[in-house]
Amino acid sequence: MAQLIADRRDVDFVLFEQMNVETLTQNEKFNEFDKKTIDLIVTEAKNLAIKEILPTQKDAEHGCTFSNGKVTVPQSFHKAYKLLREGDWLAMADDPKVGGQGMPKMVALAANEYFMGANCSFMLYHGLTHGAAKLIERLGTEEQKRLYMKKLFSGEWSGTMLLTEAEAGSDVGALTTSAKKNPDGTYSITGSKIFISGGEHDMVANIIHPVLARIEGAPKGSRGISLFIVPKYRVNANGSLGEFNDVVCTGIEEKTGLHGNSTCSLTLGSKGNCIGTLIGEENKGLPAMFLMMNDARQLVGFQGFGVSTAAYMYALDYARQRIQGKHLLTGKNLDAPSVAIIEHPDVKRQLMIMKTFVEGMRSLIYYTGLCYDKIAISNSSEEKEMLNGLIEVLTPIVKGYVTDKALEVTSHAVQVYGGYGYTKEFPVEQLFRDCRIFMIYEGTNGIHAIDLLGRKLTFKQGKPFMDFLHMIQDTINTACSIEGLETMCSEFKTVFQRFTELSEYMGRAISRPDQILNAYAFAHPYLEVTGDITMAWMHLWRSSLAMSKLQQITGEKNSEKLKSTVEKNKEAAFYYGLLKSAQFVIYTLLPVTMGKMNAIFQTNGAAVEIPDVSFGGK
Ligand SMILES: Cc1cc2nc3c(=O)[nH]c(=O)nc-3n(C[C@H](O)[C@H](O)[C@H](O)COP(=O)(O)OP(=O)(O)OC[C@H]3O[C@@H](n4cnc5c(N)ncnc54)[C@H](O)[C@@H]3O)c2cc1C
Repeated sequence: MAQLIADRRDVDFVLFEQMNVETLTQNEKFNEFDKKTIDLIVTEAKNLAIKEILPTQKDAEHGCTFSNGKVTVPQSFHKAYKLLREGDWLAMADDPKVGGQGMPKMVALAANEYFMGANCSFMLYHGLTHGAAKLIERLGTEEQKRLYMKKLFSGEWSGTMLLTEAEAGSDVGALTTSAKKNPDGTYSITGSKIFISGGEHDMVANIIHPVLARIEGAPKGSRGISLFIVPKYRVNANGSLGEFNDVVCTGIEEKTGLHGNSTCSLTLGSKGNCIGTLIGEENKGLPAMFLMMNDARQLVGFQGFGVSTAAYMYALDYARQRIQGKHLLTGKNLDAPSVAIIEHPDVKRQLMIMKTFVEGMRSLIYYTGLCYDKIAISNSSEEKEMLNGLIEVLTPIVKGYVTDKALEVTSHAVQVYGGYGYTKEFPVEQLFRDCRIFMIYEGTNGIHAIDLLGRKLTFKQGKPFMDFLHMIQDTINTACSIEGLETMCSEFKTVFQRFTELSEYMGRAISRPDQILNAYAFAHPYLEVTGDITMAWMHLWRSSLAMSKLQQITGEKNSEKLKSTVEKNKEAAFYYGLLKSAQFVIYTLLPVTMGKMNAIFQTNGAAVEIPDVSFGGK
């Protein structure tokens, strides 16, 4: 079985050639991280992922166990957790002042790609811990920072996110957990939360819960919600652990996948003894939580990507080894040797779908990382605002589209394995099950589609969305000037033009009472086409670089002649593969996108006009 997890050549391409990470390292903030250091970090992460985290993947399937309020994680998780902690891998891109390593976020993403592909249920404990630490770094009081922040960034303690309640899922504003102010300024918290990832486990001595609750007398809905830091064990002024804080785990969920991560029901203050401290301002809990949730949304998209890259690597390896059937060109010759299934066009087609999505996802996610890195070093408030806006537009695509496609990629992986893919002997069925939740938690993809259409398309007078369109247009302009890319480029240009018209159309439709319901019925299809366009953008960008490199290496411009050269040269083969990916996306995916756009333009009302009773079943 291949133990690759990710294609290092493509990781390096995106880091060093597409995103030019080295230009960041010219800034004093990142100047310790030259190419050699970055290479070492990624290699070290890859080794750790393969040697120590990947072996825990199978163990994750045994799941967590619950007994008497305690949750036990799979045994092998403990050693892997310790190694990640000892190597300071949790706070790679964070400020050294808080215990981080201060590296560019893009480099941390490259390292994490290996960790995530190795075992996503294990890495979720770290992702949420990092989110809680970041929340306290941004909004915490000096005392909260002193007590919790470094212990979270180092992974000595872990963190969670407590939003969901039985009657408050997508509608977080419906929550009923309450907070009563005490004379000393702390709050007594009472309520029950469900589906809390890593809400209880045995890898750390303390768990720090950011909790959404309503202060007594606060307004109804999301405007009356506040955010609190609630530790499992109270923390004394000197940092030592104090008494149990009445946060009780009452059970864990049996799930489809992601078994290694405990999904807990937590009761807070059932004995009237759960104390929290406010983080941020009273009744401003939701915007505060959004700071954490935006990171968490990027994380979930990243989970989808990490699982996809691993699934693709497994399927590719299997397709090269599994011998079955004759090559189509050998006709009816029964003496012809059987070939590896990668020789069959239908298998190649599926591998190509996987390859193009994985590459497009990698470029998109690292690009978002680059935006964060640029914000960190920019002196221009205008540039920072532009980049922040762009990240906001990209977030539903990273969370919603990438995780939708992760299910597709892992499903193709199962298919490439044939019957074996459906068995537990091979890892792809686990990846397929594990990634299904990514479309649901951190806001369902339906909710993210609504966010894209209802907010991101038009917020700030539509400027961030226009910036997004301009970025794509710039890539088209560059690609169109490169010899050999003209036809592909003009194909994309036509589809892109249609997409800009569609975006204007949808922007108008959501503000018209007679069209609004129908428009929102098409929110998810609109997210899907926006994602397709984003993939094509990334691939056109990649192909512009690949074409120049290929011509440099081979000295050839004619595509047929190029093909014969690449057989003998591994680097040329890589770049040639990138060109083929771009062609596949633009000539095979985009015509379907065009069809999807036509369907949205029609905005046929069937889906909203149908009354409940006509669905049948009554
Ligand atoms: C394994 C797992 C881990 C989780 N981890 C956490 C965690 O760590 N912390 C936490 O707080 N929560 C967590 N969750 C909860 C998760 O975020 C919610 O399940 C999710 O947000 C959906 O809420 P719900 O399950 O109540 O579904 P509902 O809100 O009931 O939604 C059901 C369906 O209706 C749709 N829907 C609902 N409202 C609307 C609307 N207004 N417009 C259009 N469609 C709508 C949804 O898209 C969905 O398809 C976790 C859940 C699971 C299963």
